[in-house]
Amino acid sequence: MFETFDNRVVLRATLEMETALSVGSRLSFEPTGTDLPVMKGPDGRPFIPGSSIKGAVRALTERILRSIPNGKEKGLWACDPFADPCVSKDQAQVWLRDSETEHLVWDEACTACRIFGSPWMAGRVSFKDAYLENAEDLPVITQIRDGVGIDRDLGAARQSVKYDFEVVVSGARFEIEILAENLEDWELGLLLSVLHFWEEGYLPLGGKVTRGPGWGRLKNLRLERIDQSNLLAYLTGSQVPQESPNRYLQAFQEYVNQHLGNGEG
Ligand SMILES: [Zn+2]
Repeated sequence: MFETFDNRVVLRATLEMETALSVGSRLSFEPTGTDLPVMKGPDGRPFIPGSSIKGAVRALTERILRSIPNGKEKGLWACDPFADPCVSKDQAQVWLRDSETEHLVWDEACTACRIFGSPWMAGRVSFKDAYLENAEDLPVITQIRDGVGIDRDLGAARQSVKYDFEVVVSGARFEIEILAENLEDWELGLLLSVLHFWEEGYLPLGGKVTRGPGWGRLKNLRLERIDQSNLLAYLTGSQVPQESPNRYLQAFQEYVNQHLGNGEG
């Protein structure tokens, strides 16, 4: 669907944690002796997996899209990927069998799946793992906390079980990098308005298991765009100038006004 290069936008920002952060992995094989260790790179440096960042950004984007009245008729909506996907597995399998109907997978997809992807369609936004930047400024990097859960096997007895989990302490800074390929200006504007919530401190990151911590703010958001106008210069090593997000936020605003404007059906 996107055989030609149209544009690529790199968004970079610093995430400054205001509370502790727990984005562990129960699949980690690290012998830390804790039930839920923080993810760490080969050098021991904690990082937030790109998939966790994507999950949080997508969830907030979906909430915003679902708050739009009659959004589906107006082409601004988010399906429930699990309970009621915009394109079901059966549909996708039939459509993808034939080059004549292939495009229906895109046509029927919701705004969120078009941007972030679905099992049938690659997303156009990717999130890098975000590494801790300021280990040397922190008195300690991680701490072990106690949690109490309910042992589901015991059912009605509601016996509580103790577990512990590792957190990165507050004040930690992570370098966030997001790559957006071939987004329309208004789609990038939608993504930027979600990131604006994060700048305001309203996007929590973290595991469902531990709840609670994970609040931080994005700072110093930078935007670089490579398109056909500067592709050659970029490929030959020129610096790509930074752009302001305003143009894209405005494009999103205009798109919303056009599609949701009063008096339209
Ligand atoms: Zn969808």
